[in-house]
Amino acid sequence: MRGYHGSGIASGSLTGLKAFHDHFDLPIETIRHTEAPHYYLRAAEQHGMTEREFSAYCADKLEAMILEEGPDTVAAFIGEPVLGTGGIVPPPEGYWEAIQPVLDKYDVLLIADEVVCGFGRTGSDFGSHHYNMKPDLITIAKGLTSAYQPLSGVIVGDKVWKVLEQGTGEFGPIGHGWTYSGHALGCAAGLANLDIIERENLVGNAAETGGYFQQQLKATFEGHPLLGDVRGVGLMAALEFSPDAKQRLHFDPALKVGPRVAAAALEENLIARAMPQGDILGFAPPLTINRGEVDEMIGRAKRAIDRVTDELVRSGDLKTGQQEAAFTV
Ligand SMILES: *Cc1c(COP(=O)(O)O)cnc(C)c1O
Repeated sequence: MRGYHGSGIASGSLTGLKAFHDHFDLPIETIRHTEAPHYYLRAAEQHGMTEREFSAYCADKLEAMILEEGPDTVAAFIGEPVLGTGGIVPPPEGYWEAIQPVLDKYDVLLIADEVVCGFGRTGSDFGSHHYNMKPDLITIAKGLTSAYQPLSGVIVGDKVWKVLEQGTGEFGPIGHGWTYSGHALGCAAGLANLDIIERENLVGNAAETGGYFQQQLKATFEGHPLLGDVRGVGLMAALEFSPDAKQRLHFDPALKVGPRVAAAALEENLIARAMPQGDILGFAPPLTINRGEVDEMIGRAKRAIDRVTDELVRSGDLKTGQQEAAFTV
């Protein structure tokens, strides 16, 4: 749940977000969704769970689902190393470490959706490296060309490749191809982009400047009256707003707190995304960013957030004391 894998009939079904299912007759049969690795949202702390305990709980839920469905009927588990569209949420500590053995135990393939995390965003080459995942298939796109040309792909591990090879021997060529597969223009853009990533050590910069970015975000916003959660890894981060962080309360969606902060940021000439799955402001700066630009970015975000905070206090929608807020998780 909370994963994003696209919006088509199959990919939208894999996506674990209600907005992509309602009114589209999705998800299709044969796809199941399991617990979201979202420690803050799932309010694990209120049940006294540590992050590691919550990860074990997620793995237990997955195992129970596999057993209920029948392990022989479960082909694969797909997940983003870090949830992207679902709110830019790094997994709780020990999450992939707990999930991987469950998949291995029942011979379920792991598909890492690296469309966001791939090519340096987390500060490692791939999110799978960052979290020590052992995927059988890896989907790639966005960072592959930095979007200068459309290009996507799937990296196929030996285990799956052998089956495809054997199947071809047995059944003839596998007739799954696309008119524009391997288009020269997209591939040329991809190669040029990967050269730049290597030459300018942008993955190293995502780790180094990304580390500074995460540290400064926490220093600036943790404990801020509008903030519920400050999270991220490398050069991806999110601020989740809450009228009461301790109790994990949510603002009335009609107040549009997230979009208002994004609009205030834009007035500061800062483009940050109001993520649609909550009052969440998402950051995904270019991998070329430097420390001075990080300071600038955070300064502008702070001015925008302070401004909306003042408005909410004045309208009585944000209490800075311990009063009750009306909307709970
Ligand atoms: C953007 C995205 C996709 C979908 O790519 P489309 O080409 O828009 O279908 C898949 N997975 C993740 C993690 C994404 O962020």
